[in-house]
Amino acid sequence: MKNQWGAPETDQLKQMYALYDKAVEHIDVVCRKKCSSCCTCNVTLTSLEADLLIAGLAPQEKKDLKTRIKRHFPQKRFIPKMTTNMFARMCMENKDIPEEENDPSWGQCPMLVDDMCGIYDARPFGCRALLSQVHCAESGYARVPPIVLTINNLFLQYIEHLDQNGFSANLSDMLTLFLSDNSLDDFSDPSLIANDNRFLFNEKIAVLMIPPEHREKVGPLMEKFTAL
Ligand code: SF4
Ligand code: SF4
Repeated sequence: MKNQWGAPETDQLKQMYALYDKAVEHIDVVCRKKCSSCCTCNVTLTSLEADLLIAGLAPQEKKDLKTRIKRHFPQKRFIPKMTTNMFARMCMENKDIPEEENDPSWGQCPMLVDDMCGIYDARPFGCRALLSQVHCAESGYARVPPIVLTINNLFLQYIEHLDQNGFSANLSDMLTLFLSDNSLDDFSDPSLIANDNRFLFNEKIAVLMIPPEHREKVGPLMEKFTAL
């Protein structure tokens, strides 16, 4: 497979995941094994994350994953119109923000098997960031402390920045592309991404989304990002 990601980006991504686990370990959440109502077909990820995920699979696991996605490919799913960095930039530029359509009732994530994630260790950041202080299945919503929302946005922004020459998409679309026979060769021409509304080019960080009340709290985290 031809790809554009080298060991430095992959290592940094792994370090980001480890850093996130540390950053939220003190947060009291009710999330537990087999609690899966947050595992919907609407999760998105960057191409770097997909590359890391696929690289960790044995040939048979790739075949199984391909079959599984094909069988459970969601008809209706979240197709993002903006990446996180694009959203931040557009807010800074006072641009009109397109409305996003996202509904958990569209169905489960194709990776979910018996209420467990089939790719847990390699799951993308969008999944790692799903934390709640109330049981979502009972309340119908997740309760995420505001500081965690800020931390989540920071990680989303830095992970996209790390993959600034790549792209983002819904998990099902992205993994289908990565597991296809022609795979990324088909997408080496940027106009193919530009003309396919399922995929969005990633952007560098233009502005960070940190509310004033959290600036001091996330300072040490920002230093760690810089040191990566
Ligand atoms: S975010 Fe909600 S559904 Fe997901 S594991 Fe946590 S409590 Fe369960
Ligand atoms: S990839 Fe795994 S953790 Fe993420 S939504 Fe799907 S089943 Fe859940």
